[in-house]
Amino acid sequence: MAQKNIQRPVIFGVAADSGCGKSTFLRRVNAIFGTTTSKAHTPTGDLITTICLDDFHTLDRTGRADTGISALDVRANNFALMADQLKALKQGRAIKKPIYNHDTGAIDPVETIHPNHIIIVEGLHPMLDKDVIESLDFTFYIDVSDPVKKAWKIERDMVERGHKKEDIIASIESRKPDFEKFVEPQKANADVIISIEPTKLDVAPGEETKYLNTRLIQRENQHGIRPVYMFEEEGSTVDWDPCAGPGAMACPYPGTRVRYYNEMSGEKHAHVLEVDGVFGETEELFFIEERLSNTNTKYFGELTKQMLKNKAAPGSGDGSGLIQALVALKMRESYERFTGRTIQIPKWGLFLDDY
Ligand code: ADP
Repeated sequence: MAQKNIQRPVIFGVAADSGCGKSTFLRRVNAIFGTTTSKAHTPTGDLITTICLDDFHTLDRTGRADTGISALDVRANNFALMADQLKALKQGRAIKKPIYNHDTGAIDPVETIHPNHIIIVEGLHPMLDKDVIESLDFTFYIDVSDPVKKAWKIERDMVERGHKKEDIIASIESRKPDFEKFVEPQKANADVIISIEPTKLDVAPGEETKYLNTRLIQRENQHGIRPVYMFEEEGSTVDWDPCAGPGAMACPYPGTRVRYYNEMSGEKHAHVLEVDGVFGETEELFFIEERLSNTNTKYFGELTKQMLKNKAAPGSGDGSGLIQALVALKMRESYERFTGRTIQIPKWGLFLDDY
C-alpha cells in the first residue's frame, strides 16, 4: 500500500484461537468502516491495515515439529520485534515485517507495512506482552468455549477438508495446555470479550452446540469505551423474550432470549449483554436494536442493516453475529473519538433494498 502521511494510527488488538471467527469478525468490521476487502492477512481497503501476528513466529513449521514447541508458546514468537514494530507504526514510521507463510509453513522475506489510519493486529497473542499492549487503543478477545470450538472445527475440517473426526479432536486436545497457558490469560487484558457457549435454552439432548449463547462482556477499561446496555437504565437487570406478546419477533425453535446485567469479570466490573438462541428474519432485528442503548450506530436501523449486509456470514442468524457487529461499531466509535474524524456512511432508509 502506498505511503500516507498518518501521524498516529489507531491500533486495535483482536485475540482468538484459530477457527474462532476472527475472519468473520473482520469482515463485519470492514463493512462497518465502509471498506471492502475481507482477507485477514492483507491490507484491507483504504482505512484499515490488518496484521496477522503469526508473522512474528520465530519457529517455522519444521522448527516447531523438531522442538515440540507449539505456535501458541511464547518461545515460538518474537514479542520484542512485535512491540518495536507496533510502536514504530504508532509513531507514523513504516516497518519491515516478517511474513509467516501458512501454505508452506516457512518464514518468508520481509514486507514493508506503512502506517495506516487503523491497524488491526489479530492473532493468538496481541494482549500478552506489556510492551505490545502499550500500543493498543482497544483490546478484544473472542472466547469460544471448548464444545462450540469442537463443533465448528469438526464441521469445517470434516466437511470442507475431509479430516477424520478423531484427528480433529486429538489436535484440539493437544493444543489445550498451551492455549490455557498462553492465550486464555489475555482475557484479563481485554476491554471487551465475546464469549460463545452452547445454548442454555431448552433444546433436545445433543443439540446444545447447534444453538449458541453469546455474551458481550464489556469490562471497565482505560480506553474510554462505553458499554451497550438495554432499556433506559444502565446498571439495571433485564431478562427479555423478544418473541413473546403480540407484534413480537417471530423466532423459530428454540426461540431467543436477551439479557442484560452486571457482573465481575476477573477483577473488573462488567456490563453484560447476553443473546441466546436464534433469530427468524434478519429484517426483524430492529426489534432488538430499538431496545439497545449506546450502540454507536449513526442512525436507527444501522445495526440491522449491517446484519443484512452480511446475512450469509456465520453467526448472522444468532447473537454471535449481532454481538460481533456491536463490537465493530464500538471500534468505529473509538476511532472517531481518538482521532476527532468522522467516518462517512451511505444514507439508508429502513425499507430500501440496497443491502
Ligand atoms: P478464524 O479466522 O478465526 O480462523 P473464521 O471466521 O474463518 O475463523 O471461522 C471459522 C469457522 O468457524 C467458520 O467457517 C464457521 O464454520 C465457524 N464459525 C465462525 N464463527 C461462527 C459463528 N458465529 N457461528 C457459527 N459458526 C461460526
